[in-house]
Amino acid sequence: MERIEKSLMDRSEKRSLRSLSPADRRAEGRIHIEGRDYVDLSSNDYLGLSSHPKLKEASRDAVDSLGTSSCASRLLSGDLKLHHELEEEIALFKNKESALIFNSGYQANTGIIGAIYGRGDAIFSDRLNHASIVDGITLSGAKLFRFRHNDPGHLENMLKKERKRFKEALIITESIFSMDGDRAPLKELVDLKERYNCRIMVDEAHATGIFGARGSGVVEDENLEEDVDLIMGTFGKALGGFGAYIASTSDIIRYLVNFCRSFIYSTSLPPSIVAVNMESLKVIKDEPWRRKGLLENAVYLRSELQKSGLKARGSSQIIPLIIGDNEVAQDFSERLKDAGYRALPIRPPTVPEGESRIRFSLTYNHTKDILKGLLDEIYAFSK
Ligand SMILES: *Cc1c(COP(=O)(O)O)cnc(C)c1O
Repeated sequence: MERIEKSLMDRSEKRSLRSLSPADRRAEGRIHIEGRDYVDLSSNDYLGLSSHPKLKEASRDAVDSLGTSSCASRLLSGDLKLHHELEEEIALFKNKESALIFNSGYQANTGIIGAIYGRGDAIFSDRLNHASIVDGITLSGAKLFRFRHNDPGHLENMLKKERKRFKEALIITESIFSMDGDRAPLKELVDLKERYNCRIMVDEAHATGIFGARGSGVVEDENLEEDVDLIMGTFGKALGGFGAYIASTSDIIRYLVNFCRSFIYSTSLPPSIVAVNMESLKVIKDEPWRRKGLLENAVYLRSELQKSGLKARGSSQIIPLIIGDNEVAQDFSERLKDAGYRALPIRPPTVPEGESRIRFSLTYNHTKDILKGLLDEIYAFSK
């Protein structure tokens, strides 16, 4: 059989064939698909900013004054003052010397890692790190060591055994993990990077805008801005915009401008998006109640689930409910959908075998009343 047909058949038989389901519209914690309106528990619009009037206005104004596209890469004529203003804001927000914008988190991770590291170097990566990190390491040609999820002890054993054989080394982790909703032990990781002469890079895709007194992320929350060498994050999740950034020393940023292929060989973000990202940083500063409300509601949902004996995990706005069996998780998700809640089942190979789950991704718009309704449905199914 043809390779392509066979792959599709295999997936189909395992009930793991993926397909797209276009929405007519989505805003404020709801999504409208195939004539029905659902509570959307699978988006990353954590602070509800994608429909914020100020962000919409910033986008329209930028189109009016600067047009719809930047029409070239930054090193040609696609470099706008606006890009630099955003980079200055990010550097301040992240408390680092300098920052650089990327067109997406995927492009940032696949480009940055290989620009700095290559053959003869070692990269120590948490086993649950995002695909863009894994791909970045593969592209770099550096030797990959995967340590057990959030297990600094395991990492230290590896460092003890392997670090000496390599020239430069990087430890890389997410700060909030997307499938488990849990938090990396950053202090311990920073301690190890110092003792074993490595750099550390932290991906704050799910933490930016939510954690820390200023909402800049977990690195801020744990007061580690000086210690983390490379702080990466995205604009397309809590910030309601699009694109990504890296904050670091000015030397590293200048180096990336010269050597990072995913930065150099791609048309820069359009003015409307840069303006939205910029406005979003203002809103994060001015409306701290969004992140506070979100985290309060997350604590509420998680603790209610745990009180009734269900396996709810994590310590963020992402709450995985571990079901175990593949088919049961799938049925559970279907049942919630019938009741008007869209929460997707996450199955192997995305998560380990026997740990199929429903992943609830909360946003500011999911009020306690909405969550009460959801809990009733979950209890009804669990009986
Ligand atoms: C979403 C995500 C990315 C990719 O960011 P995009 O801007 O969507 O390409 C990278 N890392 C992590 C941890 C993510 O969750």
